[in-house]
This record gives sequence, C-alpha cells and structure tokens, in this order.
Amino acid sequence: MGTPSARPSTRRIHSISRVLAVMAHPDDADVRCGGTFARWADEGKEITYVIATSGSRGGDGTTSEAELATLREAEQRESAELLGIREVVFLGHEDGYLTPSLELRRDITREIRRVRPEVVVTHYPVRHFAWGNHPDHHAVGEATAAAVYPTARNPMAFPDLLAAGLEPWEVTWLMAIDPDDPDFFVDIASSLERKVAAIGCHRSQYDQHYLDFSRKLAELTAADGAARGYPGLAHAESYKLRFEGHPRLLAELGGAIPG
Ligand SMILES: [Zn+2]
Repeated sequence: MGTPSARPSTRRIHSISRVLAVMAHPDDADVRCGGTFARWADEGKEITYVIATSGSRGGDGTTSEAELATLREAEQRESAELLGIREVVFLGHEDGYLTPSLELRRDITREIRRVRPEVVVTHYPVRHFAWGNHPDHHAVGEATAAAVYPTARNPMAFPDLLAAGLEPWEVTWLMAIDPDDPDFFVDIASSLERKVAAIGCHRSQYDQHYLDFSRKLAELTAADGAARGYPGLAHAESYKLRFEGHPRLLAELGGAIPG
C-alpha cells in the first residue's frame, strides 16, 4: 500500500471534465456562453445547466405565467440539446424576485455537490452602476459565488446535504459573465453559428434582428479581447476568471486556465 498522493486532484484539473452553469433565466447561458459551451461539449466536457427560474414573467402580459414557464423550459431544453449540454435543471424560484437568499445558496450548493464540477460559470456578482443590470442576474451571481466559496466545500454548512450523501466539493474555477473588466476570452469562431441557432430556439424572447446583433456582439467582444491582450480573435465571448482552488493547485498548474 503506497503513500496517499499529496496531489490527488492535479490530473483531473488539467483535463476539465465537468462544467456547471448557474444562471437566472432560460436563455442566459446560451446568449452569453453558447459558443464556449458548444466548443467544450465538442471536446467531451460534461456541461450542466442549473437555472434558478423558469422565466415565467419574461413576456408582455398576454401569456399566463404557467404557460410561459412551460414554453421557456421547452425552449431551453431544445437549445441545450443543440449545444450538447448534458443536463438542464430548473430550480423553480420566482422570476423577477430573486435575492441572494440562503435558500437559493442552498439549492446551488446542492447542485455543485451533486455535479462536482471543476468549473462553475455564473453571472457577475457585482452590481454595475453604469448600465442596466438585472437584479436576478446579480442575485444568482452572488448566491453562486457564496456557494462556491465557502459553502460547497464546508461539511458543516447545510448539514442536511451531507446527511443526504452530498459530500463537500471544491470548485477550482469560477467564471463570471458580463464582467466590467473581462480577463478571459474564448474564441468562438467555430461555434458562432451554433450559438446563434441556440439563441434562436428561444422564440418567445428573440427575433431575427437579435440573432444578427448577437453575431455583431461576438465581433465587438473579439475587438475588446484584442485590446486586452487576446489578439487574432474574430468572434469571442468574455469572462472574469477567478481561481477558487487550494493555492497549492495553482502553483502546480502554473496558473493554467480552462480552455
Ligand atoms: Zn436573464
């Protein structure tokens, strides 16, 4: 019997296998990360969507909340299949009324411990003052950041989860969408059209004009990337990246980032 390895997680983290996207509404993940996730799914990464609401208030008032929730869940499942997403989970919180509550954090912690992802992607948890920022996005970003650190890794937090067999889990990277100062850009030239098709599945929300705009936005993001040290991109998605693992892992990987 050998000595237990002092570096049990290094190999797994070098080859990221599981990604969890925690978003407020159906469509958020596809609009902001669809190109990244299509690429990662092609590479064999298992991607799970956890969506806090079913988007039941994302309409003009002519469709009932129950009908909209059913419709938007179906749209999300259709787009997820197109992108190669493994699983979609709806948490059933109230659309438009989200707060970074302990209840929301507990639900997200449960999903982190169940899926055991190396990477969690969510909304930027800092409120922007300069431009519109949906309060649901802000709430999910904050609740997810708190779930990643410290709740998911703390065996004493929400002890009923541990009692149910959900062991503590340490997420290694947290990636935030819509940051005011992005530091990680993903080249989505090869997956742009699949992203646009995925957005197009959300027929209750977007028309052709928005699909054209989404291509333009990917160009503008690539230009932003060039200005921030990521040259040569034609179409891109941008993130703020945070290392959440044990400092020992960062040193062992030389600061490697997911790709
Ligand atoms: Zn949203």
